[in-house]
Amino acid sequence: MRHQFNWVNGAYQLASRDVIQVINPATESPIATIDSTPQETVNAIVVSSLQNFSSGVWSQADASTRFTVLSKAANLLRARLHEFINLETRQTGRPIREMKAQLFRIPEWLEYFASLARTHEGCVTPFKGPVVNTLTRLPLGVVVQITPWNHPLLIATKKIAAALAAGNSVIVKPSESAPLSVLEMGKLFQEAGLPDGTLQIVSGYGRETGKFLCESPLISKIDLTGGLATYEAIAPTASKNLIPITAELGGKAPVCFFPSMPIEKGVKAALFASFIASGQTCVTGSRLLIHSEIYNEFVEQLVRRTMSLRLGDPTDDRTQIGAVISRASVERCTAFVSHAMVEGGKVLCGGKPTDVDGKGFFFEPTLIETKPDSNLASNEVFGPVIALIRCESEEEIIRVANATSFALGASVWSNDFNQAHRVAEKINAGIVWINGHHLNDPSSPWGGFKESGLGKENGIEAYESYTKLKSTIINYGQEPTWFDDEVENARYG
Ligand code: NAD
Repeated sequence: MRHQFNWVNGAYQLASRDVIQVINPATESPIATIDSTPQETVNAIVVSSLQNFSSGVWSQADASTRFTVLSKAANLLRARLHEFINLETRQTGRPIREMKAQLFRIPEWLEYFASLARTHEGCVTPFKGPVVNTLTRLPLGVVVQITPWNHPLLIATKKIAAALAAGNSVIVKPSESAPLSVLEMGKLFQEAGLPDGTLQIVSGYGRETGKFLCESPLISKIDLTGGLATYEAIAPTASKNLIPITAELGGKAPVCFFPSMPIEKGVKAALFASFIASGQTCVTGSRLLIHSEIYNEFVEQLVRRTMSLRLGDPTDDRTQIGAVISRASVERCTAFVSHAMVEGGKVLCGGKPTDVDGKGFFFEPTLIETKPDSNLASNEVFGPVIALIRCESEEEIIRVANATSFALGASVWSNDFNQAHRVAEKINAGIVWINGHHLNDPSSPWGGFKESGLGKENGIEAYESYTKLKSTIINYGQEPTWFDDEVENARYG
């Protein structure tokens, strides 16, 4: 079994004798070990990153240099996609066909932010008088990015691309459960021409290595994708150190079905929204809100299609449902099902752990008819356990859609154009799709409201969040200033 070192100052380096095993969730076999990086090593890495930033080697590199490096990284990633797809499939247990579709698009994030680095312009404000006030954007400094295991490479690349485009020095701590693809990116960026020390990739547990990084007084921003508890753990120190946090947290996405949508199309949409990544995405369609006019037929078809989904070996191209990330995740899904039944929920299909050839952390795709205020309909499962809720009217669908503490993604399925817009407008969520779900693009701001987070990934907004705005005020007028004797005499003499 190989050991994957941290990527620090342009080389793979051993951080500690304590190692963490990375497990293939579909086979339960260890596939690699990684470092559990201790406090003193974290401190030394942050100091190196700060030296890198202060040297100006990247923070003052011109826009065309940043454009060239990020564009080259996109090309190198494209050339090695096959290798990354296999790695991602093995460490997450997600079906290879999903990883092919997702990874195929990741280079676009590098290209988008490369272009933004090259084209983003400062501005001049309408300042009163003979004054030119220019606004320029400067990089923040050393930024820490804490990423999850569900889309390891996509989420890390989104964040790294925006931060590097803006000229920051970056330290990434990938999830200890699926860090391997992100660790590979160090060498790739070096080959693309990124100066050593500009991107550091550090392994370890969140409660140790992640915490040490986030608590460093030398960092200038934290960008987290993870759970609310993690945000709550890091926020007090960030607040004390006066640094911003971008937080992409959990969700409980409603998927709203109206009678004008043909049932067969709606059912396919529900399968896609709910069961991609075995329900382990922050925008999983985890609450299906179905209008009563179509409810019975919709549910009958959905149950039939769900039961025929092909759960199996994620490396097989035909597999539609892969593993969940860990045994703890299987147990969490089981507990949600038990709780739902105690609350009077009706399990329509699935509901149990399963395996492939006696191995792996698998859970059956599960549909449970439940009430809008049940535990299952209110809390994030992060697994393939989906709440079905019958709603009597458009108003009820909107009310239920907005009834959780989350507000990240939502989708509205209706062929009545007026209705689709009306409902989308009233849903309180950072991302609302009409007749779509999971659609994502580097140009499209991504992030939630309420307990789903703060700030955005993607788009100009993400780039700007990695900068600080500097105002330079140039006085070209001839007016003398105060405390000038000649003027004072002229004025008051
Ligand atoms: P998690 O919060 O357990 O872990 C995320 C990262 O935070 C990991 O790298 C972990 O090591 C680190 N971490 C944990 N405790 C820490 C601490 N005290 N200090 C610093 N770092 C710490 O989340 P997870 O299980 O990896 O991912 C699942 C969660 O992420 C779900 O809630 C999901 O909805 C959310 N998520 C959100 C988005 C989004 O775009 N909004 C995308 C994907 C996942």
